[in-house]
Amino acid sequence: MNGLSEEDQRQLDRLYDDLSQRHQHCIGYPLSEDFDYSPLYRFLKMSINNVGDPYEGGNPVVNTLTFEKTVVDYFAELFHADKQDFWGYITNGGTEGNLYCCYVARRKYPLAKLYFSVDSHYSVLKITNLLRMQPVIVKSLPNGEIDIDDLMERIIDSGDKTFIIWANVGTTMKGAVDNIPSIHERLALAGFSRNQYYLHTDAALKGLILPFVPNPEPFDFRADIDSIAVSGHKMIGSPIPCGVAIVKASAAHLIDRSIEYIDTHDLTIAGSRNAFTPLILWYAIKTHSKKDWVDRTLRCIHFAQYAKDRLVNEGVEAHSNPNSVTVYFTKPSEVVWRRYHLATQGDIAHIIILGHVRKPFLDQLLDDVIQDSKAKALR
Ligand SMILES: *Cc1c(COP(=O)(O)O)cnc(C)c1O
Repeated sequence: MNGLSEEDQRQLDRLYDDLSQRHQHCIGYPLSEDFDYSPLYRFLKMSINNVGDPYEGGNPVVNTLTFEKTVVDYFAELFHADKQDFWGYITNGGTEGNLYCCYVARRKYPLAKLYFSVDSHYSVLKITNLLRMQPVIVKSLPNGEIDIDDLMERIIDSGDKTFIIWANVGTTMKGAVDNIPSIHERLALAGFSRNQYYLHTDAALKGLILPFVPNPEPFDFRADIDSIAVSGHKMIGSPIPCGVAIVKASAAHLIDRSIEYIDTHDLTIAGSRNAFTPLILWYAIKTHSKKDWVDRTLRCIHFAQYAKDRLVNEGVEAHSNPNSVTVYFTKPSEVVWRRYHLATQGDIAHIIILGHVRKPFLDQLLDDVIQDSKAKALR
């Protein structure tokens, strides 16, 4: 193998310099950057592959399946899954986790429609397309939570005997959590039994916030959910996108196929699977105590509260939901949202405070948003 040509080397170096400058300044999207996984670099010299089921092992032996299992067990416990009835694996991110969980749900209720609020992540419509499920878009309340009155009306109007609900645990733009106990309660009052519906939770970001706060909204298996998907690169942080999906084992086995070629069961969406990201998540959970996660989470929430208060005090309309690291506010001028790579939707923008965000940087951004708002008011 030859080395890179001088020009290619320069191109690579330029990319590195460019990324190094932007790195640590991400505040518009939920990507933590306070990590150091360099002790794992040596594994990048091996062709590792986690094809198959982490709970079985299987034939291709150059894998990290036992570490993957440790990670999934950790998350299952964090989400209070029934020890006798859960199954999960490490995905390539929140979207694959949601796709997998909806795939399981559809196997359970093949003709059921998928109900979700208009504030759901944009990937939901890709998932309904892929799985050929009929989507039903439900209204949401001003804070981003699903409007349960509208949900009930649509379910009852459909006349369907079975259905699938996608509940948001932290919406993308506003960080809102759907009221899961109230959904179950209203369905029971309307005469539906629990075996008529499947409830999946998309907890991409907030699934790794709520376990570490004193008063979490009910969101996990204690709230009688059927499955949960989280992202690993958001709250925890990872240089390679990843996530975890956990379902009930009894439901996962609906898609169980034993494959002679790999001597294991084929339950996952991908065949060959990333064997490096399980090491990343394993390293993250082994190097952080529960208290570390609590401290880090509360610091982020505190900064979010601070940011919201500063904006409101200076006359910018700003909001954040309880237990949220997301602050959404009136969209500033394009120069400002482009300068900080803020995500925007309609007339709002948001910032997301994760572990790497430092106060001087946050203050600089807030100063710019406030100044922009004042300049607009004068015009
Ligand atoms: C980010 C996000 C997703 C998608 O997760 P990826 O890891 O980017 O695939 C899904 N739902 C919500 C609410 C999200 O915030």
